[in-house]
Amino acid sequence: MSLANGRTYLAIPGPSVVPDAVLRAMHRASPNIYDGELPDMMPDLIRDLKRVARTDCHAAIYICNGHGTWEASLANTVAAGEKVLVLATGFFAQRWADTTRTCGIEVDVLEFDVGGTFDLDRVRDTLAADKTHSYKAVLAVHVDTSSSNRNEFAPLRAILDDLNHPALLIADCIAAMGCDRFEMDAWGVDVAMTGSQKGLMCPPGVGFVFFNDRAAEMRKSMKQVSTYWDWTQRADPDAFYQYFGGTAPTHHLYGLRAALDLIHDEGLEAVWDRHATLARAIWAACEHWGQDGPLRLTVPDRALRSHAVTALSIGKPLGTQLRHWCADTAGVTLGIGLGMGTPEDPQSDGFFRFGHMGHVNAHMILGLLGVVEAGLGALDIPHRAGGASAAAKVISGV
Ligand SMILES: *Cc1c(COP(=O)(O)O)cnc(C)c1O
Repeated sequence: MSLANGRTYLAIPGPSVVPDAVLRAMHRASPNIYDGELPDMMPDLIRDLKRVARTDCHAAIYICNGHGTWEASLANTVAAGEKVLVLATGFFAQRWADTTRTCGIEVDVLEFDVGGTFDLDRVRDTLAADKTHSYKAVLAVHVDTSSSNRNEFAPLRAILDDLNHPALLIADCIAAMGCDRFEMDAWGVDVAMTGSQKGLMCPPGVGFVFFNDRAAEMRKSMKQVSTYWDWTQRADPDAFYQYFGGTAPTHHLYGLRAALDLIHDEGLEAVWDRHATLARAIWAACEHWGQDGPLRLTVPDRALRSHAVTALSIGKPLGTQLRHWCADTAGVTLGIGLGMGTPEDPQSDGFFRFGHMGHVNAHMILGLLGVVEAGLGALDIPHRAGGASAAAKVISGV
């Protein structure tokens, strides 16, 4: 029997749950793109968007997904033939490195433990050895959505400053901006990017690149930047049409306006706290189940875990079986285990993920965990019973 009819929950790490307020804001006739309400609302929209990135710098909007923002950030700062250093703790950093190579840029990758974080001594040694300052930028992922580990940027900034190394610090914040604490200006990040469909709770299709004056200077020294990716016009809210290099993503902008209102009405600190507490409930359940069975969190150290996504291993083919059971029987879709298998089998059946980013609350998370516990039982997967109760205790303690 299926019990899946009713409101479904797409509990994957993006696209995330779209709030009704965002859907309602988008449900309207096409607006005028030349003047009136839509262009008029841009300055405040940009201001409130920058508040989510904790920056007073510039923001450019592209009609693209996160992959597009990878190219956008590079197109304005690093020319073909130049070199960057990628710090990799997972699949997304590796994909970003691959994308960077296809732009004709030379890439050195420092690989670190997927369930851990950067070894700062290795980062320092590598940058110190770069006496000619051949690295134009250091590329690092804030939360690698494949492993769900979270990396810090302030220590990277400290190393660059210490060594007087001029490389830009570029951060992929696509997974967790608006979920996990991120402070672009305070942490000394020069370029940061995100997409509309994760912490920003909108449908996929719009990408955001934040950049400071140092990065803007770098853009000016570039011999050539293609029109579409050039962020110069896009960061001028008075140049609405040019802003988008063509037609604006009209309805997305209305949705984004509603999403930013949700975030700032709750308060960004409170939004981060909500994600942290819900994540602790998830960890409590998973750690409990794992005491008598194969379930493991990919990131053993709580301090290194994202509050927006949780990656798990359970052994082949149980990950896939559990995902199917939860979707078919209970209306909850879990994320696939991305990039955690072998190179030949990167989406191995032994892994899965929970997305808990954006518009999620206690009842959704407890529902998710209750369903997973039911699934573990239904599929006879060994586990210690009572994980959902362990999560409930975290919520009770609020
Ligand atoms: C989702 C994600 C991306 C890719 O974003 P798309 O919108 O799917 O192109 C890149 N990096 C990270 C860390 C992500 O979570």
